[in-house]
Formats: sequence, structure tokens, C-alpha cells
Amino acid sequence: MTEQTPIVIVGTGLSGYSLVREFRKLDKETPVIMVTADDGVSYSKPMLSTGFTKDKDAEGLAQADPEAMAEQLGVEIRPWSTVTGIDADARELRLGDQRLPYRKLVLAWGADVIRLSLAGDGLDRVFSINDLMDYRAFRKALSGGKRVAVMGAGLIGCEFANDLRNGGYEVDVIAPDTALMPSLLPRAAADAVQSELEALGVNFHLGTVVERVEHRGDGVEVFLANGDRLPADLVVSAVGLRPRTELAAGAGLDTGLGIRVNRALETSAPDVYALGDCAEVDGRVLLYVLPLMACARALAKTLAGERMEVSYGAMPVMVKTPCCPTAVCPPAADAEGEWLVEQEGSDVKATFRHPSGDTLGFAVTGRFAVEKQTLAREVPPIHND
Ligand SMILES: Cc1cc2nc3c(=O)[nH]c(=O)nc-3n(C[C@H](O)[C@H](O)[C@H](O)COP(=O)(O)OP(=O)(O)OC[C@H]3O[C@@H](n4cnc5c(N)ncnc54)[C@H](O)[C@@H]3O)c2cc1C
Repeated sequence: MTEQTPIVIVGTGLSGYSLVREFRKLDKETPVIMVTADDGVSYSKPMLSTGFTKDKDAEGLAQADPEAMAEQLGVEIRPWSTVTGIDADARELRLGDQRLPYRKLVLAWGADVIRLSLAGDGLDRVFSINDLMDYRAFRKALSGGKRVAVMGAGLIGCEFANDLRNGGYEVDVIAPDTALMPSLLPRAAADAVQSELEALGVNFHLGTVVERVEHRGDGVEVFLANGDRLPADLVVSAVGLRPRTELAAGAGLDTGLGIRVNRALETSAPDVYALGDCAEVDGRVLLYVLPLMACARALAKTLAGERMEVSYGAMPVMVKTPCCPTAVCPPAADAEGEWLVEQEGSDVKATFRHPSGDTLGFAVTGRFAVEKQTLAREVPPIHND
């Protein structure tokens, strides 16, 4: 290793770019190379589910090209460069036949979409949207269409449903659970969001799944397990994400649900770190922006020479369903307590209370959504053990 051996960051999503931005506030000299499998364009991923509402296509959502980012951040960026392996003993990345030595390596390579194995000949009309390039392909395919079927009623499925309705499309949402966002919202809040989305014109098909997608003319017919058939121009699949762990596991790094790191974002290999959607930080996979920003700030300090552990505050998740503004801070999965619900129509304030009376989580919809900051101050931070 020489003075010029770079810090290498894999990924130019929010994690990679946030990290390098924080790092450059502390160290302007150390060489940094960012490699990414995609085009390296900077964009805010949460905005992908607001394109119609904000009247922005993929070009409108792009913030800066990699050349501009490289100049702004004082780094080298290599787009269209897919990492194929890590040699942690030799401190080298493999990119096909090429090898790239590192002094420190940061894995910020995100999560893969889960793809359901569906039957039928119409699978080329099923789109997952997990980056700007996906979004560009989806908008191109949708051009001239009128009707979209959305698989999944989690946060992303609901946000796309609202956004597509705002864009004037007919929308059907199909999901196996009987409530929206079951891992995030208590039932009262989920029902409030559902009833406002229905009032907006979204059709829900809950408690069933898509089994088959067949070509019909320029569009498709979507076959549900309950026997219903829906016409659509295309299908959006929003059925979940899985942190990318395969290459890390192949290199001998400790992995679980994600690439396992401690609170200093250190993997089990020396000088290899991970953050963002690919990382399991101290036992938790949090596929949201606020946690990755906190990780980026802590890791920047560590890379600059002052080892720092991440500490999270309470981090409310905003659900971008403008027809029913919603914020949620889910209680820990093993939290003791119960939901207390105050409700007027679709305005819901649900607080999860420990028997001692402490608030451990909340969900607010409609006019109560403005209380999110006040409630967030009552909720204990994540990792407060
Ligand atoms: C539609 C949508 C809406 C969302 N809304 C919200 C929201 O409102 N609030 C919120 O908190 N969160 C939201 N999220 C989640 C949030 O956007 C993500 O948690 C965050 O953007 C993840 O960033 P990341 O940099 O870790 O991963 P990514 O953005 O996925 O970046 C991964 C990078 O790694 C690169 N890469 C992958 N594999 C390789 C390889 N082998 N070699 C080289 N490069 C590779 C990719 O090309 C990419 O550059 C939303 C997500 C989606 C999809």
C-alpha cells in the first residue's frame, strides 16, 4: 500500500454520496475512488415515488452527473463498473479481470428487489423500481398507458399508488395481507390510509396475490389467486428488498440479513466497512434515509482517523401518500405494551405505550401528522441499550 492507495467506496446512491460529502468536510487530501454498477447520476431515491405528483420524469429527478459530482467532491468516480469480488487478504476489489487496491473499503451497494416467480408470457411488462434507471425504463414503458397494477401494499406500493393516481392513471393494488403496510402501521392507521387512497380512486385487492401475467394487445391481463382478472398496461412490483450480501459472504465477511457491521460500521474484515441498505448495523437492517445519514456522519469521522460509533435518534418514517399524510415510528419488534388509538375519520393518532406509560412508538395520519416531531421527542432512540 502506498500514499496514493485510495479509499474505495462501492456505490453512488445516497449512502455513497452522503459518506463522501461528510468525509470531504474532514479530509480533502486522501484519494477516494467511487465505483458503481450504474451511471453514477446523483438523485434522491425517495423522490422516485413522487414523480407524477411533482411532475418530474427521470431527467427531472436527476440532480447531477458523475463528472459534476467528481469535481464537486474531489473524488474519482467510475460508472458502469461492477464489482465482482473482494480479496480482503490482498486488500483488492475485483471488477471482472481488473483489480483495484484499497487502503479502506466501504460497501454502500444497496439492496436488490425481490422478484416473485410469476407464470405467464407478460413478465416483460412487470417493472420493479429501485433506482433512477429503473424509473426511466418504467416511465418510457408507461407512456401512452392508462392503467397500472401495483403488486404490494407496503410503503413503496402505497406511495406509487397515490402518485400514479395523481398522474391520472387507473390503479389496482394487489397484496396478500388484509391491511396496508402491515410491518409499519397499526391497523387503525392502515385503514385510514386505505380509505383515503380508495377515496382517491385506488382499487384494492387484499388477501390475494398475482399468479400470472399474460400479454393482451399492447398491455397485459393480471390473474389473481382469488380468480379475479385485471386489465393493465403494466405491472409495478413493490414486494420488498433484500440487502446485497452475496459478494461479501463470498469473500468470507460475516453476513446475516445484511452485511454485519458493528456501530462503528466495521465488517468482520479489517478496514472494510458497510452502510446503507446493504448493511445490518448492530443487528438491524433499516432501509431508510435517516439511518444511513447518521451512519455516513459516523463513518466519515472513522475514515478521517477518529473512530466513531453511530447513534440514532428517534427516526420517524414519512409515508408519501399526500391524500393521507402519515408518519410512523414503529416500536421495537419485542417491545412490551399496547396501541392506544384516538381517531376521527381518517385522522388517527396511535401511540404504543409501555405499561409504565412511556411512549415507545407512534403512527399519525391526516391532521394528526403534524404532531410527528413532538411525538418523536417522546420515543426512545433506536439502540438505546
Ligand atoms: C420508491 C422508493 C421510495 C423511498 N422512499 C423513502 C422515504 O420516503 N424515506 C426514506 O427514509 N427512505 C425511502 N426509501 C428508501 C431509501 O431511498 C433507501 O434506503 C436509500 O436510498 C438506499 O441508499 P443506498 O445508497 O444504501 O443504496 P442504493 O441507492 O441502492 O445504491 C446502491 C449503489 O450501489 C451500486 N452497486 C450495487 N451493486 C454493485 C456492484 N456489484 N458493483 C458496483 N456497484 C454496485 C448501485 O449501482 C448503486 O450505485 C425509498 C426507496 C424507494 C425505492
